[in-house]
Amino acid sequence: MRIDLHAHSTASDGTLTPAGLVAAGAEAGLDVLAITDHDTTAGWAPAGEARPAGLALVRGAELSCRWYGRSPAIPLHLLAYLFDPTAPALVAELARVRGSREERARRTVERLRADGVDVTWDEVRGYAAGGTVGRPHVALALIRAGLVADTDEAFEDRWLGERYRLPKEDTDVFAAVRLVREAGGVPVFAHPRATKRGTVVPDSLIVELAAAGLFGLEADHEAHSPAEREHVRGLAAELGLVVTGSSDFHGSHKQVKLGAFTTEPAAFEAIVAAASGVPVLGP
Ligand SMILES: [Zn+2]
Ligand SMILES: [Zn+2]
Repeated sequence: MRIDLHAHSTASDGTLTPAGLVAAGAEAGLDVLAITDHDTTAGWAPAGEARPAGLALVRGAELSCRWYGRSPAIPLHLLAYLFDPTAPALVAELARVRGSREERARRTVERLRADGVDVTWDEVRGYAAGGTVGRPHVALALIRAGLVADTDEAFEDRWLGERYRLPKEDTDVFAAVRLVREAGGVPVFAHPRATKRGTVVPDSLIVELAAAGLFGLEADHEAHSPAEREHVRGLAAELGLVVTGSSDFHGSHKQVKLGAFTTEPAAFEAIVAAASGVPVLGP
C-alpha cells in the first residue's frame, strides 16, 4: 500500500486541478491520496468525481494556524482529515482565514506596485484559477515579470519572505484542534520541525496539543532532516500519536513528487477509525 496524505490542488496553491491531482495520484502508483488544500474544501467534489477506480481518496485540508504562546506568535500548519465540511463553526473559521489570506495578497500587490513592480491584482487573481488567492500566486507574477527565477527565490527576504511580507490572521492552534475534532475530523500536525519555514515550536507545545486532541505528527516530509524525522517519531511514540509521511505535493511549483514520502497502513487505518465526519472515498 502506498499512502500519501498531503497534497495540494488549484483549490489552493497547487498547479494541478483537483481532477488532475487524483489522476496523477493513480499514475504515481498510489493506493491512497489525501487532498489537503489550504483552508478550503473546494477541491473535494471535483476530486471525488474524477477519482480513478483504484485510488482511495481522503478528503482533508491544511489549516493555517498560529500558536500564541510566544510573541510574535508562531505560524504552523494543521492537517485535518475526514471532517464534516458543513460543520458551522469550522466552516466559518475557514472562511475567515481565506478572507485574510486573500486580503494579504491584495495588499502585497499594492505595495509591490507602489515600488514600481509590474504586477497587477487581475494577473495574480488569474493564477488562482478561482481558488483562494495567496502569496504563491504573487510569486508567479514575480516570475512572469522576470524578477525572480522560481517560487523559492520569490520567498527570499528581499521579496515575499521579508520585505513584502504582511501579516494575516490565522486560527489559534488549540481552537483548530477543537474545531476539527468537533467536526468529526482527525488533526495531524504538518511538518512540525520545518525550520526553513520559520521558528519551530517547542516539544512542550506538542505535549499540550496531544492532551487537547491532536492525533498525529507528520514525520516524513521533505523539509525534515533524517535527524528531525527521528526526533518527531520519538515524540509521537512517547505521546501515543500516530506518525505520517507525505509528499506535500504542489505540482510544478515545487520539486517534490507524489508519493515521495508515504504513511504506514496501520497509521492510515487508525486515522480512518478515529474519523466520523466523512468516509474515505473508494476501494
Ligand atoms: Zn504546510
Ligand atoms: Zn501543504
